[in-house]
Amino acid sequence: MKKEQWGRLKQELLKSVGQNNYSTWIEPLELADVSEGIATFFVPTSFVGNYVSQNFGDLIRYHVNTIAPDVRRIGFRVKERVPETADEPRAGRAEKPQQATVGETQVPTAPLDDRFTFETFVVGKPNELAHAAAKRVSEGGPVTFNPLFLYGGVGLGKTHLMHAIAWDLRTRRSELNVVYLSAEQFMYRFVQALRDKKMMDFKEMFRSVDVLMVDDVQFIAGKDSTQEEFFHTFNALVDQNKQIVISGDRAPGEIANLEDRIKSRLQCGLVVDLHPTDYELRLGILQSKVDQYQQTYPGLKIDSGVLEFLAHRISTNVRVLEGALTRLFAFASLVGHEITLELTQDCLADVLRASERKINIEEIQRQVAEHYNIRLSDMIGPKRLRSFARPRQVAMYLCKQLTSRSLPEIGRRFGGRDHTTVMHGVKRIDDLRQQDGQIAEDLELLRRALEA
Ligand code: ADP
Ligand code: MG
Repeated sequence: MKKEQWGRLKQELLKSVGQNNYSTWIEPLELADVSEGIATFFVPTSFVGNYVSQNFGDLIRYHVNTIAPDVRRIGFRVKERVPETADEPRAGRAEKPQQATVGETQVPTAPLDDRFTFETFVVGKPNELAHAAAKRVSEGGPVTFNPLFLYGGVGLGKTHLMHAIAWDLRTRRSELNVVYLSAEQFMYRFVQALRDKKMMDFKEMFRSVDVLMVDDVQFIAGKDSTQEEFFHTFNALVDQNKQIVISGDRAPGEIANLEDRIKSRLQCGLVVDLHPTDYELRLGILQSKVDQYQQTYPGLKIDSGVLEFLAHRISTNVRVLEGALTRLFAFASLVGHEITLELTQDCLADVLRASERKINIEEIQRQVAEHYNIRLSDMIGPKRLRSFARPRQVAMYLCKQLTSRSLPEIGRRFGGRDHTTVMHGVKRIDDLRQQDGQIAEDLELLRRALEA
């Protein structure tokens, strides 16, 4: 992220927080630097830093993520004084990097986020296996699978689970030397060791770790000497029966430019994936965030239906879901209102629009055709047989419900039909939905599949 980009984001923030808040809190923020997933801002005083972090931290992170998706944390530093790390809202304190002492050398572990624990991790169908495996590792018993490889798309909880393992091991088995770091940090340290001619130390320190966790391993794909070193470290630890936990954005076999021997090594343990969230899990996560928030701000009121609405409409990933909720909290606390559906729609218009785009007409047509076992060409084509007409109407209905496309546009995409035909189809399904349990069930199933 560059300074000019931050300037532009500030303007976005102005829209979200209003002029008064903007002038007092946002305007003074100056981008200091972005590194290792932390965007740091200069603030005039630590009070401003704390206030901004508490009240706007997530909102800022949310905006920063639109241009710099790998920023995980927002930090504040008082200008021209000793650095001071305030962190994101609520949770506040990020832990200072820990130094685990090992003989002469030290293995610095990356900071752990104190919100990422097992207690705050909501378990549902899509992540229950990953959760169970992580739990098992965190018990610190004999190593049964090595490595544990967790993979899944962004924002599904990989990092959360890894931090949770680290926290748990620290309390349960404080004698163990648990090291968590990203693959990028691994590389960075490796390169530094090479440069400083400290390779022996580097090797020694990594080989004396009891539990090694490396996040986002896909990062080292294509980086040959880092891979090589990673491979040796990995083998040395496995040979000593030390637990390794790795995460990646896809299955080991699918990471391009990763050496085959590493792929096969990664596959020898337990490979589990975090599936995209489903509606129930999203609702559970939202509920749990609201509960946490209400412990600090008991005054917060949310109308019933708001969380359900969000769980339906925001299906991209948990990070976006959380960002939306935090923005909502910030907004509600500023204007001092309870959170209604209307306020939600206003305040989150851009997020809602963005996640809408994910479901498009083709996707709906494809899913519906598949569901009713008809050909796509028959769904779109002119045939008026009921066995085609009904699925077609279902698809039109879903297009109207789940996308922001207009009736004429939907008509065009269904073989150039008139908008009145679409309107009729939508109405027909809406009526049937009330009377016909089968149709209602089909719609629900399809909606879920589409939003998954
Ligand atoms: P990943 O590393 O897979 O990209 P993260 O672990 O960083 O994703 O998760 C993104 C955000 O979503 C974090 O704030 C995390 O706490 C939250 N999150 C993800 N899954 C869950 C869950 N099952 N319960 C509670 N919070 C979750
Ligand atoms: Mg992560």
